[in-house]
Amino acid sequence: MAFDVSLTALKGVGPRMAERLERLGLRSVEDLLFHLPYKYQDRTRVVAIGSLQPGVEAVIEGEIEVCDIKFGKRRSLLCRMGDGSGSIMLRFFHFSAKQKQALERGVRLRCYGEVRRGPVMLEMVHPEYRQVGDEMVTPQEEYLTPVYPATDGVAQKTLRQLAVQALNLLRQGEVKDYLPPELLASSGLPSLQQALLEVHQPLPDTPVFELIEGDTPARQRLVLEELLAHHLSLRQLRHKAQQDAAPLLKPTGLLRKKILAALPFALTAAQQRVIAEIDADLAQPFPMQRLVQGDVGSGKTVVAAAAAVHAIEAGYQVAVMAPTELLAEQHRYNFSAWLQPLGLKIAWLSGKQGIKQRRENLALLASGEAALAVGTHALFQDEVVFDQLGLVVVDEQHKFGVHQRLALREKGSRDGQVPHQLIMTATPIPRTLAMTAYADLDNSIIDELPPGRTPVETVVISGERRAEVVARVHKACGEEGRQAYWVCTLIEESEVLQCQAAEEAATMLVEALPDLKIGLVHGRLKPAEKEQLMARFKANELDLLVATTVIEVGVDVPNASLMIIENAERLGLAQLHQLRGRVGRGSVSSSCVLMYHKPLSRQGKARLAALRETNDGFEIARRDLELRGPGEVLGTRQSGVLRLRIADLERDQGLLPEVGRLANELLQRWPGQVAPLIDRWLGDGQRYGDV
Ligand code: ADP
Ligand code: MG
Repeated sequence: MAFDVSLTALKGVGPRMAERLERLGLRSVEDLLFHLPYKYQDRTRVVAIGSLQPGVEAVIEGEIEVCDIKFGKRRSLLCRMGDGSGSIMLRFFHFSAKQKQALERGVRLRCYGEVRRGPVMLEMVHPEYRQVGDEMVTPQEEYLTPVYPATDGVAQKTLRQLAVQALNLLRQGEVKDYLPPELLASSGLPSLQQALLEVHQPLPDTPVFELIEGDTPARQRLVLEELLAHHLSLRQLRHKAQQDAAPLLKPTGLLRKKILAALPFALTAAQQRVIAEIDADLAQPFPMQRLVQGDVGSGKTVVAAAAAVHAIEAGYQVAVMAPTELLAEQHRYNFSAWLQPLGLKIAWLSGKQGIKQRRENLALLASGEAALAVGTHALFQDEVVFDQLGLVVVDEQHKFGVHQRLALREKGSRDGQVPHQLIMTATPIPRTLAMTAYADLDNSIIDELPPGRTPVETVVISGERRAEVVARVHKACGEEGRQAYWVCTLIEESEVLQCQAAEEAATMLVEALPDLKIGLVHGRLKPAEKEQLMARFKANELDLLVATTVIEVGVDVPNASLMIIENAERLGLAQLHQLRGRVGRGSVSSSCVLMYHKPLSRQGKARLAALRETNDGFEIARRDLELRGPGEVLGTRQSGVLRLRIADLERDQGLLPEVGRLANELLQRWPGQVAPLIDRWLGDGQRYGDV
């Protein structure tokens, strides 16, 4: 393929430059073509000095009126230049004697630079400049000048020169367009060649802002192509996964019946529906890949347990993986309570357990004696060997990326059989996003909370009114016999500081509330200590639990009806929603007090307002998306769910339905284009499934 050619084929790129370009992710001529400008300079016309505004970059031309060295805090060379319409000051901090000489009164200059407000008049600081003769008409640029993301050792000028070479190659017509014109006809988008030329070399009148923000057909054409490539790659992954054989689960349903009968409640209709969807998957000869979304408290754990007993009854083991120790402990507690009465053994793997305990648990798994394993990432490790793994449950998916999910799948594969996978998340993902970011998964939604829950009332209070909050805790715990959480947050990543803050809060509360039994839990406690504290809180032996954000997920104490969060403005929306979800689990009305420190940023204010206004996880996810963008919401920044080069899932959301439609058509009518398209955007082992 002509455009897969290495950059060293271009003039000016030797091995050293190639290495530096690689730091920008640029390896081939094609990469260079998709390295898009993030802004443009207008060097196509000369602007009248009198019409300049601060902040714009412009070309100006005029005659030097005075030029002097000014001695002050910083020595500088100041040249006033006018063109009849007005004057501007050119300011140089670094200059040579020769330079000063050349810039004498009467000399004509053409300058390019950013216009700023100066002490006397508008200024350009260190403009690019060139002397022009009166009679000489110097040619201006034909196109807007692109500004590319650059890096150390790769100057803007170099990138521009290389781009021009690449564009000349493009003009010669060899670059492959994988999206046939018939496919794009209905969307009215241009060809690849047209789009790239327009983005790199826009004509002077092109609306630049739209070009950058993705609103022009040219930019959309490129974004669409990238999204399409990712979508197709995930679809391929899904297709590939369906070629694998999975354990055939033919349970009698007896265990399921027993476990459900022992529950103190009946399943909601939504839980039943999702369990039925899972059962249908488990009856297929290929592995289930299902994402279950359900708000905090919607009862995902029971759904997972219902799936687990199916696998266990069919003679297979189940792995339940959680993102944090505490959540893993919570699952261990729940699954033990449900499964042990049925005579089933549970293994437990944690990063913090001792060697002896660990060995025992590993042995239980390897021999098949344990039917189910609960743990954190520790379940990934090489020494963990299952006898017959049939189902993997991953809780709180947003903390794991596609690649991690795949790694776990590989781990469980044996004799050509791949375990079923159930992924649970409390971060609702808008449908269009799910289609793209999770196109390899089937989707289920638990869209109903168990009955009898009263919505949590949320108030937002300045930290200065702490005394009122303490009084509120006293009323709830001392007088009404309820329990409460007091969560301390810190910006610092340091666990030590976090714990200190929690300790201080606990000391303050013990003094202020002498009649209450108060416990303190933080990340530096030993697991056994933490567990014991949580157990005491659960058994209502403690009234108030002071904690760091370690209680974020998982803990389940229905009698707790008050949640206080200190410095709530420091946490993200999803995290606050999770924390708040710790209360409102019983039938008594609950409340959440969000304390903040002044001054509140605009974003902080918007987050707290969102929580006050709604309890609905989907609505909160929507606002979160609005405030932060999907990269953050999906945790892509950390785990690389989607590594997008030019598309932006939030900005380009509108294109997502089109992506699905085009993918179907491409697969049907031009299946040969799919592989090279994916290759172009996700080459070099980035493809989903290349773990
Ligand atoms: P999440 O979806 O946040 O993981 P959990 O599975 O922890 O929620 O469930 C929250 C609480 O609701 C638990 O105490 C659980 O036992 C309870 N629960 C689950 N399903 C029901 C139901 N159908 N009716 C009443 N309570 C339920
Ligand atoms: Mg849960």
